[in-house]
Amino acid sequence: MKYIVLFGPPGAGKGTQAVNMAKNHNLCHISTGQLLREEIGAGTELGKQAKALIDDGNLVPDDVVQAMIEGQFKQKKTCEGFILDGFPRTIAQANALEDILSKLSSKISAVISIMIPDSEIMTRIKHRASIEGRADDTSEEIINNRIETYHQKTQPIIDFYKEKGNYIEVDGLGSIEEVEKKISAIMETL
Ligand code: AMP
Repeated sequence: MKYIVLFGPPGAGKGTQAVNMAKNHNLCHISTGQLLREEIGAGTELGKQAKALIDDGNLVPDDVVQAMIEGQFKQKKTCEGFILDGFPRTIAQANALEDILSKLSSKISAVISIMIPDSEIMTRIKHRASIEGRADDTSEEIINNRIETYHQKTQPIIDFYKEKGNYIEVDGLGSIEEVEKKISAIMETL
């Protein structure tokens, strides 16, 4: 089984690229953000708690998303591996992922990191808001909080994976197709 982490700031294009990677390489796409939005849509207790945090641009607790990931690994078995889109987002989650995978006698195949500058994040998320209508994409204040949260809690993961030697960075500027080409080239080497 391949386990690919697709990393990057909000608005980097992880979701779009993950869908293409899943299709082209027979991988299961797990987006913790999407799973949380489904819980919100279904009106579950978890969804209600997550909504308040997501709508303010904050992260949901580590144990909640970790349990989701573990559940997904147990469920989906027909694909040749998984793309994790939006997980891990904290060092604690990155450590938990190591533990979850070691219990499965497995490890991360690669961390593919799509990088865009902060100035581009706002532009892209505002564009996405006009298409997808996500509540957390609509206010500048919330987007700024997500950018801040990314720098404080998520960005330190880069060094965590650089030390492990499985971190590969891709320039996320350019068209969807251009970024997809760069990611495909990396996928061929795995
Ligand atoms: P995304 O769709 O990946 O942009 O995620 C939307 C929102 O869901 C994030 O801003 C967080 O509030 C929440 N979320 C998604 N993934 C995680 C995660 N791994 N840890 C904590 N919160 C998450």
